[in-house]
Amino acid sequence: MIATDDLIDYVRANRERYLGELTDWIACPSVSADPARHHEVRRSAEVAVARMKAAGLTEACVLETDGLPVAYGSWLHAEPGAPTVLIYGHHDVQPEDPIALWDSPPFVGTVRDGKIFGRGSVDDKGQVLMHLAAIEAHLRVRGSLPINVKVVVEGEEEIGSPSFEAFLAREKERLACDVVVVSDTAVFAEDMPSLTVSLRGLVHWEVRVDGPTSDLHSGYFGGIVANPIESLARMIATLRDADGRIAVPGFYDNVRELAASERAEIAALPFDARKEARGLGVSDLVGGERERLPLERMWMRPTLECNGIYGGYQGPGGKTIVPSFAHAKLSARLVADQDPAHVKAVVRGHLEASAPAGVRVSIETDGDTRAVSTSRDHPAVGAAARAMERGFGKPPVFIGTGGTIGPVSSFDRILHLPQVLIGVGLPDDCIHAPNEKFDLAQFYGGIETMAYLYDELAEAR
Ligand SMILES: [Zn+2]
Repeated sequence: MIATDDLIDYVRANRERYLGELTDWIACPSVSADPARHHEVRRSAEVAVARMKAAGLTEACVLETDGLPVAYGSWLHAEPGAPTVLIYGHHDVQPEDPIALWDSPPFVGTVRDGKIFGRGSVDDKGQVLMHLAAIEAHLRVRGSLPINVKVVVEGEEEIGSPSFEAFLAREKERLACDVVVVSDTAVFAEDMPSLTVSLRGLVHWEVRVDGPTSDLHSGYFGGIVANPIESLARMIATLRDADGRIAVPGFYDNVRELAASERAEIAALPFDARKEARGLGVSDLVGGERERLPLERMWMRPTLECNGIYGGYQGPGGKTIVPSFAHAKLSARLVADQDPAHVKAVVRGHLEASAPAGVRVSIETDGDTRAVSTSRDHPAVGAAARAMERGFGKPPVFIGTGGTIGPVSSFDRILHLPQVLIGVGLPDDCIHAPNEKFDLAQFYGGIETMAYLYDELAEAR
């Protein structure tokens, strides 16, 4: 273990200043969803660049995209052979609505009970500042960093990163690195430091089932014409068997099974299925593959859901017709190592083959997002785990997330690099909701974790 007392003394002595910097940045309402505030997103990028310069990053500038700007800074003077680490975060925030439900003004950073409240406090300005504080500590105390760093702070994450992939492709050379560190996630529970090692991918289908050329009088024609809604319902019902397994041949091709040790780790996490079900307003958690644990089903197993279905008469009262068509929207969350194109093809083939006689089926597919997972044997994941243990006093648990994070998928697709998801938010931080907050213990512990992380990454090469 590398001695880091000097760094830790420095960041502890400067906590008040870091809090002030976060407060100043929260005061910039960088809501990317609102065109009337796009000048604030630009100002927020400038705030980030100023903070990067103050931290000692040598190249710090606003980089334009096809949309809202990225704040970028780098320091590339580490010893020969040291790894280059790209740190990703975002400086745009979610809208503050509904404003009446905030206990203090959303863009006035307000400390209560050891937490700072404000829009962007944890998602993601506070988590970006953890890195800038840790970088500053290394550069001030030791005069150098043990790694080369490139810090990319995006301005469109909260609107789905529409320009980010093109930006990455264009700036590929400038952003070349060995590993990506993303700090925009939460831990599993308070007092349970966590590293996220998998995210699911996503594909979509639109299914249209056509019957008669127009709606028909069900008195005259009912009984001789196949009903498109019933036909579509039958097709959808064939997608899953009675045990919740997806019944499409080839759907599970290449799905990576968990090792027994990984399954045991998930089983050991505190998860109360009954409480979860109650919170969701359902009697039981019986979606998906029955024999598998809920957390495994949420993080490590693929899904195939019907997201919408319509057709026929939707107005008030009754209308006696055989409808002309029915329509459904389906999507699948994918896991490693499923191939999106293969999954789209096998589901399409299965739906076409299961279509009853008397209707015509047309299917469109969309989306091409692979799951992202980082092997926990990767040296950078080991380095992150050691840094978290030193920063928070206990080793992290490894968790997944069932969702899909656009920029993480883009890094995977464009740069093909291992990614470490090391975030320190708490599950009750109210991100995207009124009263968003960042626990100061997590903020300060996160700064120390990042200070350790750079040393650990340098050692892990
Ligand atoms: Zn975020």
